[in-house]
Amino acid sequence: MTLIRSWLPAANDPACPFPLNNLPYGVVSAAGGAPRCGVAIGDRVLDAAALAAAGLVTVPAGTFDAPSWNAFMAHGPALWASFRAELTALLAEGSAQEAAVAPHLLPLADLQLHMPFAVTEYTDFYASKHHATNVGTMFRGAENALPPNWLSIPIGYNGRASSVVVSGTPVRRPWGQVKGPDEALPRFAPSARFDIELEMGCIVGRSSTGPVTVAGAEEMIFGYVLLNDWSARDIQAWEYQPLGPFQSKATATTISPWIVTAAALEPFRVPVPPRERETLPYLEEPKPGLYDIALEVGLAPEGGEETVIARTNYREMYFSAAQQLAHHTTSGCAMRTGDLLGSGTISGPQKDSRGSLLEMSWGGKEPLELPGGATRSFIADNDTLTLRGAARGDGYTIGFGEAAGKVLPALEDPYAG
Ligand code: CA
Repeated sequence: MTLIRSWLPAANDPACPFPLNNLPYGVVSAAGGAPRCGVAIGDRVLDAAALAAAGLVTVPAGTFDAPSWNAFMAHGPALWASFRAELTALLAEGSAQEAAVAPHLLPLADLQLHMPFAVTEYTDFYASKHHATNVGTMFRGAENALPPNWLSIPIGYNGRASSVVVSGTPVRRPWGQVKGPDEALPRFAPSARFDIELEMGCIVGRSSTGPVTVAGAEEMIFGYVLLNDWSARDIQAWEYQPLGPFQSKATATTISPWIVTAAALEPFRVPVPPRERETLPYLEEPKPGLYDIALEVGLAPEGGEETVIARTNYREMYFSAAQQLAHHTTSGCAMRTGDLLGSGTISGPQKDSRGSLLEMSWGGKEPLELPGGATRSFIADNDTLTLRGAARGDGYTIGFGEAAGKVLPALEDPYAG
């Protein structure tokens, strides 16, 4: 796939994250204005409601009344495809509609970015083999690193939709129960091992009832965002047995502000890695289910320069989002428009391709070195952590924007006095 040229010059720059091939969906507001649905193109954002009101695109009445893409998603794949085709025609080089469209373009640099959709429910998976092996080795020893079910089942837990925030939202270091000095008794303290998890978030566009095949799941997926599952490792270590993570994962989940559609990512499909064990038939993939998306994590101390501390790729996942979604429905669990599925931390085989500080510093035993002599085993107060991602085509880039968050110091004991 090559660049589709636009009459907007900025969209044709090979480094621009928002070429005509992308057309990601967000919610934006100008200073003093109300949030509204927008489509990023080059260095501009196209006002979706204004475009529909002008009759330049065809969507059901009321689609863009609320500042979220949920109503649009709920209309289903036929509208997703026709709207994308209409936008592509309007913005393509040589379009006869250039003069009609131009008044509805807002300068991206002047806009505030909001949550692009209302998160209905949030499930987080645990589906990178390198990550599961690393964490399992640290928590249970190399012999018991991967539980016997791991190679067969997309492991997940039901998270909290209320934890999901858009990039730029500060994150407060949490308090919680952590192991005390004698390892057998807890104490209540601010997390001293606060961490990131580099993930992709898959957004369910079309609802379902009853079991869905992997092929059916592919049809339900609207798009993807970058996702940081902030994790308090000391709280997690004390609480995770026997029912899995709970408060260690409930502080915040940061997503990038633009929904990159499955349609935009289609040219970047890659298969899941080879299996060690035969896949149960209901999880077999009809087509390659992962995407070649380069990912990185930056860490910037307060007032300091950012260092890229990890580089990996979404293709490192062991299970695809469609497999995870299909598995999620096996029980008959209904899925709804706006459900968010975290991929699980994406770690590659090398030390510098690990998707969490827990792994990078090997539980704090091998601290990372930052410029100027600073070190990190986990996140320090006022550090800003930023996820970035890009799929690179022939002469163009599919970008997501950033998923960034600054970690603020813990409050005084919230239960004191
Ligand atoms: Ca996670």
